Amino acid sequence: LVARMRGFGTTIFAEMSALAVRTGSINLGQGFPDTDGPAAMLERAASAVREGHNQYPPGPGVPELRQAVSEHRKEHYGLAYDPDGEILVTVGATEAVAASVLALCEPGDEVIAFEPYYDSYAAAIALAGAVLRPVTLRPDGGRFTFDPAELRAAAGPRTRAILVNSPHNPTGTVLTRAELSEIADLCRERDLVAVTDEVYEHLTFDGVEHVPLATLPGMRERTVTISSAGKTFSVTGWKTGWVCAPPELVRAVQTVKQFLTFTAAAPWQLAVAHGLRHEMEWVAALRDGLQAKRDRLGAGLAAAGFDVYRPAGTYFVQADIRPLGLADGLVLTRDLPSLAGVVAIPTQVFYARPERGAHFVRFAFCKKDEVIDEAVHRLTRLG
Ligand code: PMP
Ligand code: GLN
Repeated sequence: LVARMRGFGTTIFAEMSALAVRTGSINLGQGFPDTDGPAAMLERAASAVREGHNQYPPGPGVPELRQAVSEHRKEHYGLAYDPDGEILVTVGATEAVAASVLALCEPGDEVIAFEPYYDSYAAAIALAGAVLRPVTLRPDGGRFTFDPAELRAAAGPRTRAILVNSPHNPTGTVLTRAELSEIADLCRERDLVAVTDEVYEHLTFDGVEHVPLATLPGMRERTVTISSAGKTFSVTGWKTGWVCAPPELVRAVQTVKQFLTFTAAAPWQLAVAHGLRHEMEWVAALRDGLQAKRDRLGAGLAAAGFDVYRPAGTYFVQADIRPLGLADGLVLTRDLPSLAGVVAIPTQVFYARPERGAHFVRFAFCKKDEVIDEAVHRLTRLG
Protein backbone atom coordinates (compact mmCIF):
# COMPACT_ATOMS: atom_id res chain seq x y z
CA LEU A 1 0.00 0.00 0.00
CA VAL A 2 1.33 3.43 -0.91
CA ALA A 3 2.55 5.50 2.02
CA ARG A 4 -0.08 8.19 1.63
CA MET A 5 -2.88 5.65 2.17
CA ARG A 6 -1.31 3.93 5.15
CA GLY A 7 -3.21 4.77 8.28
CA PHE A 8 -6.58 4.63 6.54
CA GLY A 9 -6.96 0.89 7.17
CA THR A 10 -10.56 -0.37 7.23
CA THR A 11 -13.28 2.30 7.43
CA ILE A 12 -15.05 2.67 10.75
CA PHE A 13 -18.35 1.83 9.03
CA ALA A 14 -17.09 -1.54 7.79
CA GLU A 15 -15.49 -2.27 11.17
CA MET A 16 -18.57 -1.41 13.19
CA SER A 17 -21.11 -3.08 10.89
CA ALA A 18 -19.02 -6.26 10.98
CA LEU A 19 -18.92 -5.99 14.79
CA ALA A 20 -22.73 -5.68 14.85
CA VAL A 21 -23.14 -8.81 12.71
CA ARG A 22 -20.54 -10.77 14.69
CA THR A 23 -22.12 -9.94 18.05
CA GLY A 24 -25.77 -9.85 16.95
CA SER A 25 -26.00 -6.25 18.19
CA ILE A 26 -28.42 -3.55 17.11
CA ASN A 27 -26.56 -1.48 14.53
CA LEU A 28 -26.94 2.25 15.21
CA GLY A 29 -23.49 2.78 13.64
CA GLN A 30 -23.41 2.94 9.85
CA GLY A 31 -26.07 5.31 8.54
CA PHE A 32 -28.49 3.34 6.41
CA PRO A 33 -32.27 3.07 6.76
CA ASP A 34 -33.93 -0.25 7.59
CA THR A 35 -36.95 0.48 5.40
CA ASP A 36 -37.13 0.74 1.61
CA GLY A 37 -37.45 3.69 -0.75
CA PRO A 38 -40.66 4.61 -2.61
CA ALA A 39 -42.29 1.53 -4.17
CA ALA A 40 -42.85 3.02 -7.63
CA MET A 41 -39.20 4.07 -7.77
CA LEU A 42 -38.06 0.54 -6.88
CA GLU A 43 -40.39 -0.78 -9.58
CA ARG A 44 -38.89 1.69 -12.09
CA ALA A 45 -35.45 0.19 -11.43
CA ALA A 46 -36.82 -3.31 -12.06
CA SER A 47 -38.63 -2.25 -15.24
CA ALA A 48 -35.49 -0.46 -16.47
CA VAL A 49 -33.62 -3.77 -16.22
CA ARG A 50 -36.44 -5.66 -17.95
CA GLU A 51 -36.61 -3.05 -20.71
CA GLY A 52 -32.97 -3.63 -21.50
CA HIS A 53 -31.26 -0.56 -20.01
CA ASN A 54 -28.33 -2.80 -19.24
CA GLN A 55 -25.43 -1.43 -21.28
CA TYR A 56 -23.08 1.50 -20.62
CA PRO A 57 -25.01 4.74 -20.30
CA PRO A 58 -23.37 7.98 -21.52
CA GLY A 59 -20.37 9.11 -19.43
CA PRO A 60 -22.07 12.21 -17.96
CA GLY A 61 -25.13 10.15 -17.01
CA VAL A 62 -28.48 9.12 -18.46
CA PRO A 63 -30.13 12.21 -20.07
CA GLU A 64 -33.44 11.66 -18.18
CA LEU A 65 -31.64 11.89 -14.85
CA ARG A 66 -29.63 14.97 -15.79
CA GLN A 67 -32.85 16.63 -16.94
CA ALA A 68 -34.62 15.66 -13.70
CA VAL A 69 -31.70 16.99 -11.60
CA SER A 70 -31.81 20.27 -13.52
CA GLU A 71 -35.56 20.65 -12.88
CA HIS A 72 -35.13 19.72 -9.21
CA ARG A 73 -32.40 22.36 -8.64
CA LYS A 74 -34.55 25.01 -10.33
CA GLU A 75 -37.70 24.13 -8.42
CA HIS A 76 -36.17 23.74 -4.95
CA TYR A 77 -33.40 26.32 -5.00
CA GLY A 78 -34.00 28.58 -7.99
CA LEU A 79 -30.66 27.48 -9.47
CA ALA A 80 -30.43 26.84 -13.23
CA TYR A 81 -28.01 24.10 -14.33
CA ASP A 82 -27.77 22.97 -17.93
CA PRO A 83 -28.31 19.19 -18.12
CA ASP A 84 -25.75 19.16 -20.95
CA GLY A 85 -22.49 20.33 -19.44
CA GLU A 86 -23.32 21.38 -15.89
CA ILE A 87 -24.52 18.08 -14.40
CA LEU A 88 -22.54 14.87 -13.97
CA VAL A 89 -23.90 11.62 -12.55
CA THR A 90 -21.46 9.79 -10.25
CA VAL A 91 -21.18 6.52 -8.36
CA GLY A 92 -22.57 8.03 -5.17
CA ALA A 93 -21.43 11.17 -3.45
CA THR A 94 -18.25 9.36 -2.48
CA GLU A 95 -17.00 9.22 -6.05
CA ALA A 96 -18.07 12.82 -6.59
CA VAL A 97 -15.99 13.99 -3.62
CA ALA A 98 -12.94 11.97 -4.66
CA ALA A 99 -13.12 12.98 -8.32
CA SER A 100 -13.56 16.64 -7.36
CA VAL A 101 -10.57 16.69 -5.05
CA LEU A 102 -8.42 14.76 -7.55
CA ALA A 103 -9.49 17.13 -10.32
CA LEU A 104 -8.77 20.31 -8.37
CA CYS A 105 -5.67 19.70 -6.27
CA GLU A 106 -2.03 19.54 -7.21
CA PRO A 107 0.21 17.64 -4.78
CA GLY A 108 0.92 19.98 -1.88
CA ASP A 109 -2.21 22.07 -2.34
CA GLU A 110 -4.27 22.56 0.79
CA VAL A 111 -7.94 21.78 1.31
CA ILE A 112 -9.91 23.14 4.26
CA ALA A 113 -12.45 20.76 5.82
CA PHE A 114 -14.52 21.05 8.97
CA GLU A 115 -13.73 18.40 11.57
CA PRO A 116 -15.36 16.08 12.45
CA TYR A 117 -15.67 15.21 8.73
CA TYR A 118 -17.10 12.32 6.75
CA ASP A 119 -14.22 9.85 6.58
CA SER A 120 -13.77 9.79 2.81
CA TYR A 121 -12.71 13.46 2.74
CA ALA A 122 -9.35 12.88 4.39
CA ALA A 123 -8.71 9.83 2.18
CA ALA A 124 -9.58 11.70 -1.04
CA ILE A 125 -7.27 14.55 -0.03
CA ALA A 126 -4.48 12.08 0.73
CA LEU A 127 -5.01 10.30 -2.62
CA ALA A 128 -4.49 13.63 -4.37
CA GLY A 129 -1.29 14.21 -2.40
CA ALA A 130 -2.93 17.34 -1.00
CA VAL A 131 -2.94 18.51 2.60
CA LEU A 132 -6.01 18.72 4.84
CA ARG A 133 -6.36 21.85 6.94
CA PRO A 134 -8.99 21.13 9.59
CA VAL A 135 -11.30 23.70 11.16
CA THR A 136 -13.06 22.38 14.25
CA LEU A 137 -16.81 22.44 14.78
CA ARG A 138 -17.53 22.87 18.49
CA PRO A 139 -20.71 22.82 20.55
CA ASP A 140 -22.07 26.30 21.15
CA GLY A 141 -25.62 26.86 22.38
CA GLY A 142 -26.65 23.26 21.77
CA ARG A 143 -25.35 22.95 18.20
CA PHE A 144 -21.95 22.54 16.58
CA THR A 145 -20.47 25.54 14.80
CA PHE A 146 -17.10 27.02 13.78
CA ASP A 147 -15.15 30.10 14.79
CA PRO A 148 -14.88 32.40 11.74
CA ALA A 149 -11.41 33.50 12.88
CA GLU A 150 -10.24 29.88 12.92
CA LEU A 151 -11.65 29.41 9.42
CA ARG A 152 -9.75 32.46 8.15
CA ALA A 153 -6.56 31.34 9.84
CA ALA A 154 -6.78 27.99 8.04
CA ALA A 155 -6.51 29.63 4.61
CA GLY A 156 -3.00 30.12 3.28
CA PRO A 157 -1.21 30.66 -0.02
CA ARG A 158 -1.54 26.97 -0.99
CA THR A 159 -5.24 26.68 -0.17
CA ARG A 160 -7.07 25.53 -3.26
CA ALA A 161 -10.48 24.40 -2.05
CA ILE A 162 -12.82 24.10 0.89
CA LEU A 163 -14.93 21.01 1.52
CA VAL A 164 -18.25 21.92 3.09
CA ASN A 165 -20.91 19.49 4.29
CA SER A 166 -24.36 20.74 5.29
CA PRO A 167 -26.52 19.24 6.70
CA HIS A 168 -23.46 17.93 8.48
CA ASN A 169 -22.53 14.34 9.19
CA PRO A 170 -21.75 13.54 12.02
CA THR A 171 -22.85 16.60 14.07
CA GLY A 172 -26.29 17.21 12.53
CA THR A 173 -25.55 20.91 12.10
CA VAL A 174 -27.31 22.69 9.26
CA LEU A 175 -25.18 25.71 8.44
CA THR A 176 -27.04 29.03 8.69
CA ARG A 177 -26.99 31.65 6.00
CA ALA A 178 -24.62 33.70 8.21
CA GLU A 179 -22.20 30.77 8.54
CA LEU A 180 -22.36 30.07 4.81
CA SER A 181 -21.67 33.76 4.17
CA GLU A 182 -18.44 33.50 6.17
CA ILE A 183 -17.40 30.60 3.96
CA ALA A 184 -18.49 32.36 0.77
CA ASP A 185 -16.60 35.56 1.69
CA LEU A 186 -13.42 33.55 2.21
CA CYS A 187 -13.88 31.67 -1.08
CA ARG A 188 -14.30 34.89 -3.04
CA GLU A 189 -11.45 36.74 -1.31
CA ARG A 190 -8.98 33.85 -1.69
CA ASP A 191 -10.30 32.54 -5.00
CA LEU A 192 -11.10 29.11 -3.56
CA VAL A 193 -13.30 26.45 -5.09
CA ALA A 194 -16.02 25.17 -2.75
CA VAL A 195 -16.91 21.50 -2.90
CA THR A 196 -20.16 21.08 -1.00
CA ASP A 197 -21.56 17.75 0.05
CA GLU A 198 -25.31 18.19 0.40
CA VAL A 199 -26.40 14.54 0.53
CA TYR A 200 -28.78 15.30 3.44
CA GLU A 201 -30.28 18.34 1.67
CA HIS A 202 -33.87 17.14 2.17
CA LEU A 203 -33.42 15.73 5.67
CA THR A 204 -33.75 18.85 7.85
CA PHE A 205 -36.04 19.19 10.87
CA ASP A 206 -38.24 21.71 12.69
CA GLY A 207 -38.64 23.75 9.52
CA VAL A 208 -34.90 24.49 9.34
CA GLU A 209 -34.09 25.41 5.75
CA HIS A 210 -31.20 23.89 3.82
CA VAL A 211 -29.40 26.67 1.97
CA PRO A 212 -27.17 25.48 -0.88
CA LEU A 213 -23.83 27.32 -0.82
CA ALA A 214 -24.18 27.91 -4.58
CA THR A 215 -27.15 30.23 -3.94
CA LEU A 216 -24.93 32.80 -2.16
CA PRO A 217 -23.67 35.78 -4.15
CA GLY A 218 -20.72 34.95 -6.38
CA MET A 219 -20.73 31.27 -5.38
CA ARG A 220 -22.47 29.45 -8.23
CA GLU A 221 -19.45 30.02 -10.45
CA ARG A 222 -16.99 28.52 -7.94
CA THR A 223 -19.00 25.75 -6.31
CA VAL A 224 -19.17 22.02 -7.00
CA THR A 225 -22.43 20.84 -5.41
CA ILE A 226 -22.79 17.13 -4.59
CA SER A 227 -26.05 15.24 -3.99
CA SER A 228 -26.96 11.58 -3.60
CA ALA A 229 -30.08 9.50 -4.09
CA GLY A 230 -28.92 7.21 -1.28
CA LYS A 231 -30.09 9.47 1.53
CA THR A 232 -32.89 11.32 -0.27
CA PHE A 233 -34.72 8.15 -1.30
CA SER A 234 -33.42 5.60 1.27
CA VAL A 235 -31.47 3.62 -1.34
CA THR A 236 -27.91 3.81 -0.03
CA GLY A 237 -27.03 0.62 -1.91
CA TRP A 238 -27.78 2.20 -5.28
CA LYS A 239 -24.67 4.41 -5.08
CA THR A 240 -26.09 7.06 -7.39
CA GLY A 241 -25.04 10.67 -6.93
CA TRP A 242 -24.53 13.79 -8.99
CA VAL A 243 -22.47 16.93 -9.31
CA CYS A 244 -23.82 20.34 -10.31
CA ALA A 245 -21.23 22.96 -11.24
CA PRO A 246 -20.28 25.41 -13.98
CA PRO A 247 -19.05 23.76 -17.23
CA GLU A 248 -15.33 24.20 -16.58
CA LEU A 249 -15.56 22.53 -13.15
CA VAL A 250 -17.82 19.73 -14.39
CA ARG A 251 -15.35 19.06 -17.23
CA ALA A 252 -12.52 18.82 -14.73
CA VAL A 253 -14.41 16.43 -12.44
CA GLN A 254 -15.56 14.34 -15.41
CA THR A 255 -12.03 14.06 -16.75
CA VAL A 256 -11.10 12.26 -13.53
CA LYS A 257 -14.40 10.41 -13.11
CA GLN A 258 -14.19 8.82 -16.55
CA PHE A 259 -11.03 6.97 -15.52
CA LEU A 260 -12.32 5.98 -12.09
CA THR A 261 -15.57 4.37 -13.26
CA PHE A 262 -16.30 5.88 -16.72
CA THR A 263 -20.02 5.94 -15.92
CA ALA A 264 -22.56 4.92 -13.26
CA ALA A 265 -25.03 2.01 -13.47
CA ALA A 266 -27.94 2.66 -15.85
CA PRO A 267 -31.08 1.20 -14.22
CA TRP A 268 -30.69 3.16 -10.98
CA GLN A 269 -30.30 6.38 -12.90
CA LEU A 270 -33.67 5.95 -14.61
CA ALA A 271 -35.29 5.09 -11.29
CA VAL A 272 -33.76 8.12 -9.55
CA ALA A 273 -35.02 10.35 -12.37
CA HIS A 274 -38.49 9.02 -11.52
CA GLY A 275 -37.82 9.74 -7.84
CA LEU A 276 -36.83 13.37 -8.37
CA ARG A 277 -39.88 13.95 -10.57
CA HIS A 278 -42.57 12.07 -8.66
CA GLU A 279 -41.48 11.16 -5.15
CA MET A 280 -40.66 14.41 -3.37
CA GLU A 281 -43.82 14.08 -1.25
CA TRP A 282 -42.55 10.69 -0.17
CA VAL A 283 -39.27 12.41 0.79
CA ALA A 284 -41.16 15.02 2.85
CA ALA A 285 -42.87 12.20 4.74
CA LEU A 286 -39.49 10.50 5.24
CA ARG A 287 -38.16 13.73 6.71
CA ASP A 288 -41.10 14.11 9.11
CA GLY A 289 -40.73 10.49 10.18
CA LEU A 290 -37.01 11.00 10.81
CA GLN A 291 -37.70 14.06 12.94
CA ALA A 292 -39.90 11.93 15.21
CA LYS A 293 -37.19 9.24 15.32
CA ARG A 294 -34.60 11.87 16.23
CA ASP A 295 -36.76 12.88 19.20
CA ARG A 296 -37.40 9.25 20.15
CA LEU A 297 -33.73 8.29 20.19
CA GLY A 298 -32.66 11.64 21.65
CA ALA A 299 -35.04 11.29 24.61
CA GLY A 300 -33.94 7.69 25.15
CA LEU A 301 -30.24 8.55 25.12
CA ALA A 302 -30.83 11.44 27.52
CA ALA A 303 -32.74 9.10 29.86
CA ALA A 304 -29.81 6.67 29.63
CA GLY A 305 -27.53 9.43 30.92
CA PHE A 306 -25.89 10.85 27.80
CA ASP A 307 -25.71 14.56 27.01
CA VAL A 308 -27.48 14.72 23.66
CA TYR A 309 -27.08 17.30 20.89
CA ARG A 310 -30.32 17.65 18.95
CA PRO A 311 -29.45 17.64 15.23
CA ALA A 312 -31.20 20.02 12.81
CA GLY A 313 -30.67 17.53 9.97
CA THR A 314 -29.17 14.15 8.89
CA TYR A 315 -29.66 10.70 10.45
CA PHE A 316 -27.35 11.19 13.41
CA VAL A 317 -27.32 12.23 17.05
CA GLN A 318 -24.14 13.21 18.88
CA ALA A 319 -23.95 12.02 22.46
CA ASP A 320 -21.41 13.23 25.01
CA ILE A 321 -20.43 10.26 27.18
CA ARG A 322 -18.83 12.18 30.04
CA PRO A 323 -21.97 12.34 32.21
CA LEU A 324 -21.75 8.53 32.35
CA GLY A 325 -18.30 8.86 33.87
CA LEU A 326 -16.68 7.77 30.58
CA ALA A 327 -13.98 9.57 28.61
CA ASP A 328 -13.12 7.64 25.46
CA GLY A 329 -15.77 6.93 22.81
CA LEU A 330 -13.50 4.51 20.95
CA VAL A 331 -13.17 2.32 24.03
CA LEU A 332 -16.90 2.59 24.72
CA THR A 333 -18.03 1.72 21.17
CA ARG A 334 -15.73 -1.32 21.06
CA ASP A 335 -17.18 -2.48 24.40
CA LEU A 336 -20.78 -1.52 23.69
CA PRO A 337 -21.78 -4.82 22.01
CA SER A 338 -20.84 -6.79 25.13
CA LEU A 339 -22.09 -4.13 27.55
CA ALA A 340 -25.42 -3.48 25.85
CA GLY A 341 -25.75 -5.25 22.50
CA VAL A 342 -25.64 -1.97 20.58
CA VAL A 343 -23.19 -0.64 17.97
CA ALA A 344 -22.40 3.08 17.55
CA ILE A 345 -19.64 5.12 15.91
CA PRO A 346 -16.81 6.78 17.87
CA THR A 347 -16.91 10.34 16.56
CA GLN A 348 -13.18 10.84 17.20
CA VAL A 349 -12.31 8.91 14.03
CA PHE A 350 -13.69 11.84 12.03
CA TYR A 351 -11.18 14.31 13.48
CA ALA A 352 -7.70 15.19 12.29
CA ARG A 353 -7.06 15.69 16.02
CA PRO A 354 -9.04 12.82 17.60
CA GLU A 355 -8.63 14.13 21.14
CA ARG A 356 -11.02 16.94 20.23
CA GLY A 357 -13.85 14.46 19.77
CA ALA A 358 -12.81 11.71 22.21
CA HIS A 359 -15.95 12.06 24.35
CA PHE A 360 -18.50 11.99 21.51
CA VAL A 361 -20.33 8.98 20.13
CA ARG A 362 -22.59 9.03 17.06
CA PHE A 363 -25.89 7.13 17.04
CA ALA A 364 -28.00 6.70 13.86
CA PHE A 365 -31.80 7.04 14.18
CA CYS A 366 -32.80 6.04 10.61
CA LYS A 367 -34.27 2.84 12.07
CA LYS A 368 -37.70 1.38 12.84
CA ASP A 369 -39.24 2.67 16.08
CA GLU A 370 -39.11 -0.76 17.68
CA VAL A 371 -35.38 -1.00 16.88
CA ILE A 372 -34.76 2.41 18.45
CA ASP A 373 -36.82 1.46 21.50
CA GLU A 374 -34.98 -1.80 22.00
CA ALA A 375 -31.60 -0.06 21.63
CA VAL A 376 -32.63 2.55 24.20
CA HIS A 377 -33.86 -0.16 26.55
CA ARG A 378 -30.48 -1.89 26.30
CA LEU A 379 -28.51 1.34 26.71
CA THR A 380 -30.27 2.24 29.97
CA ARG A 381 -28.26 -0.63 31.47
CA LEU A 382 -25.14 1.48 31.07
CA GLY A 383 -26.02 4.13 33.67
N1 PMP B 1 -21.17 12.33 2.30
C1 PMP B 1 -21.77 12.22 3.48
C2 PMP B 1 -21.77 13.39 4.40
C3 PMP B 1 -22.38 11.02 3.84
O1 PMP B 1 -22.95 10.90 5.04
C4 PMP B 1 -22.35 9.94 2.96
C5 PMP B 1 -23.01 8.64 3.30
N2 PMP B 1 -24.26 8.64 2.65
C6 PMP B 1 -21.72 10.11 1.73
C7 PMP B 1 -21.14 11.31 1.44
C8 PMP B 1 -21.63 9.00 0.74
O2 PMP B 1 -22.71 8.99 -0.11
P1 PMP B 1 -22.84 7.86 -1.24
O3 PMP B 1 -23.30 6.63 -0.57
O4 PMP B 1 -23.83 8.46 -2.18
O5 PMP B 1 -21.50 7.70 -1.87
N1 GLN C 1 -22.86 7.78 5.25
C1 GLN C 1 -23.05 6.69 6.15
C2 GLN C 1 -22.54 7.03 7.51
O1 GLN C 1 -21.99 8.06 7.73
C3 GLN C 1 -22.44 5.40 5.67
C4 GLN C 1 -21.14 5.55 5.00
C5 GLN C 1 -20.38 4.31 4.65
O2 GLN C 1 -20.76 3.22 5.01
N2 GLN C 1 -19.30 4.51 3.97
O3 GLN C 1 -22.73 6.25 8.40
